Amino acid sequence: MTLPPGKLFLVAAILFGAALAQAANPSAASPSSDRQLASGPAGRVPAKPIQSKFSKFSKPGSTKAGHRTTAAGRKNQRTASTTADDWTLGNDGKVIYLTFDDGPQPVFTPKVLTVLARHQAKATFFVLGKEAAAHPELVETTRGQGHSIGNHTWDHPMLTHLTPKRVHEEIFSGVKSKCFRPPYRDTNPAVAKVAAANHQRQVLWDVDTNDWEKPGAARIEREILRGAFPGAIILMHDGGGNRTQTVAALDRALTQLRARGFTFRALPC
Ligand SMILES: [Zn+2]
Repeated sequence: MTLPPGKLFLVAAILFGAALAQAANPSAASPSSDRQLASGPAGRVPAKPIQSKFSKFSKPGSTKAGHRTTAAGRKNQRTASTTADDWTLGNDGKVIYLTFDDGPQPVFTPKVLTVLARHQAKATFFVLGKEAAAHPELVETTRGQGHSIGNHTWDHPMLTHLTPKRVHEEIFSGVKSKCFRPPYRDTNPAVAKVAAANHQRQVLWDVDTNDWEKPGAARIEREILRGAFPGAIILMHDGGGNRTQTVAALDRALTQLRARGFTFRALPC
């Protein structure tokens, strides 16, 4: 999709304004505003991802694309993301981008891979550097099966709480990839800039299944199905805890989504 330069500028200006508003009001994204400290993904704190105003896949160095999860916001988000950078996600049919964070994990990553293979689905795994270093064979197996690997930092800190030097270390010591996903969706222009300096594109998500809360496989399945739309990036976890529910939900959801005509691709990481 392309927009006339004037319109593109307008979209960029509006979204940049939103980013400035966010920067001017950091409390809007503080942990206390929309979540409780609890056992979060991978057994870490805090519990829920911050609702960022930044792009789910912003161009390196860019913070101008907005993030919405409402149906009304999806069109704008898609427009912004596909005109603001050179990815063309969501413009070529009923494609869904499944993503799995916090692995690799010796028990559950192979189970996820088995389910994906059963449904001829490709996905993207945002792995932790320290887990990848502990289980390099799992990363190789995952890549070998046609999936993408993204960088989810070395050990899952809240990046906006760190010094610029530490942010650089966390991103730089993660796996080599063209994609980077900030833990807890905790990001800001400074973090995005460090990722860009490492030639990594920040990738967020459209649909949070909250599978790490272990709400039951049926609930996770429902979140996947309810959130599915062409081009959607869906967040799940293969690491950080017992993912039995995620594996079961994935298997059932993929059966139904395939029946609806969806296919599943890895992100170009
Ligand atoms: Zn994570």
